[in-house]
Amino acid sequence: MAIKSSILETIGQTPTIRVNHLAPEGVEMYVKLEAANPGGSVKDRLALSIIETAERDGSLQPGQTVVEATSGNTGIGLAIVCAQKGYPLVVTMAESFSVERRKLMRFLGAKVVLTPASEKGTGMVRKARELAEEHGWFLARQFENPANPAIHENTTAREIIEDFGADGLDYLVTGFGTGGTLTGISRRMKADSPATRIIVTEPDNSAIMASGHVQAYNPDGSAAESHPGFRPHPMQGWSPDFIPAVAHEAMAEGRIDGFQPVGGQAALEMSRALATREGIFVGISAGATFAAALEVAKTAPKGSKILAMLPDTGERYLSTPLFADVPEEMSDEEMAISRSTETIRFDAPAAAPAVGQPAADAEALAEVQETVSEHAVVVYALEWCEFCWSVRKMFEDAGIDYHAVELDSVAYQQDNHGGRLRAALREICNAPTIPQVFVGGQHIGGATETFDAYNSGQLAEMLEAQQISMAATAQNAYSYLPKWLHPR
Ligand code: PMP
Repeated sequence: MAIKSSILETIGQTPTIRVNHLAPEGVEMYVKLEAANPGGSVKDRLALSIIETAERDGSLQPGQTVVEATSGNTGIGLAIVCAQKGYPLVVTMAESFSVERRKLMRFLGAKVVLTPASEKGTGMVRKARELAEEHGWFLARQFENPANPAIHENTTAREIIEDFGADGLDYLVTGFGTGGTLTGISRRMKADSPATRIIVTEPDNSAIMASGHVQAYNPDGSAAESHPGFRPHPMQGWSPDFIPAVAHEAMAEGRIDGFQPVGGQAALEMSRALATREGIFVGISAGATFAAALEVAKTAPKGSKILAMLPDTGERYLSTPLFADVPEEMSDEEMAISRSTETIRFDAPAAAPAVGQPAADAEALAEVQETVSEHAVVVYALEWCEFCWSVRKMFEDAGIDYHAVELDSVAYQQDNHGGRLRAALREICNAPTIPQVFVGGQHIGGATETFDAYNSGQLAEMLEAQQISMAATAQNAYSYLPKWLHPR
């Protein structure tokens, strides 16, 4: 049966992929692509495990709110699980994690409570605990919850052993956030594939686990201090400012065979290299893990098989240093390609407009006149046109009610009603474009003229004459336009 009973059945069973172009001679390199999970990260596994374990042991009641501190991916995973199972979700997250994460969680129906970056990971964890106590919510406790490593022991590690066979893999390279991946995988590997060496990678400037400083814990397993070795680093989701209890287990039980530090720059470069050379689109911690795996490869015996865990997709890093050098505008090289043929380019005049527009009919002309005299503010608009959206947003922000005529809506397509009104507008306004805006029966113009009137104060005066006061909020009305529509 290939049909899944819900999205939750698509979590796990991620592919192991051979690396063809970036692997040095003499070793075989592989990656496990956790971006293939429905939420785009490894954390979908833990989210499902924590919620279903709590459902079974009764610590999570039907309809109870779930709360958790997360660098984002756990929140996205929990949001998916909670959406499917009907639990409200509140996430606490330091403001320094990428805005894509916030928006994704909110899009999936979660509430995101930001915490100050200065309070670091320990701060967002404390906030989640406070909220759980205050409101009686279920705290997921990913950093301590045994359901976190358990899912990696029972799924991720099993998948790896299925792919390589017992003792078929020589090195497994992973970072840690909660340590769920590390602790769960190492538990199963040490039992069923003891020849596999477990290599932990950390940011070179924040190698808290390799530092030897012993982390202090509270009786409930939460970290009792911010680790003194912690420094900010760009690998979001990795190495918080404490060694989580979950990660501590792998270290305390001697299951770590080596540490490999990795620099932020190498992480960013390797994420880009995986994309451009292998077509593997992953995030910063994935780039870091692969960079560390390449270091391991340098001293690995010939013929070694090395697997790097790639925790998430690159799509949630558009606003981060990962994409800092990826321009929005065309580069000189792209401009040259554009100019290499005659038409459809920005530096040549557009094709002449089509001739033979239909003439306006008397009935449509009368209808426009009637509409603009009946309503104080009228916007003739197209439903999904960016200029029209910008004008609407401007009026909405200014708190002004307007009457919109949606010329291309299904209703106005009946008997070409919208088309006839457009012909009438072309004649009345002496302009072919939409939107067209009227105040007190007077034609202001299209989007450009309306923005100009807003900026000069003329719009406010015209509204005043209609006893409408305007709350001008924008410095410049042109800011309502998407950037690609800003006047060139
Ligand atoms: N990379 C990213 C991007 C993550 O979000 C996480 C989880 N916070 C990790 C790596 C680490 O995974 P784990 O919590 O299983 O150690």
